[in-house]
Amino acid sequence: MIEIIMATLWACFAAYAIWYFTMAKHYAPLTLTEAKILWKIHKQNTGCSSKMWREIRRGEKIVGFECECGYKHIQKRPITASAPTSKIQTQTYMYKKIHRH
Ligand SMILES: [Zn+2]
Repeated sequence: MIEIIMATLWACFAAYAIWYFTMAKHYAPLTLTEAKILWKIHKQNTGCSSKMWREIRRGEKIVGFECECGYKHIQKRPITASAPTSKIQTQTYMYKKIHRH
């Protein structure tokens, strides 16, 4: 009897672990600042003039943003995991350039 209970517990644990790692893989959590930068980049790239946005959350984590214009962005990969010549560096550079004056 105890073996059945143990086996069930292990199965639940394994299922939870798989779910957890799958989720972690699909949704890369962002900070509020990163979400805001990505929104500004979206505005720059599309010429969007919206003033409002909101973060998209998966549980406690911010995984993207939704713009007032209806644009939605969900971060699928951790931005820090990309190569050194990554997009985010260019984007951050653009962000600084836009807000210099
Ligand atoms: Zn927009």
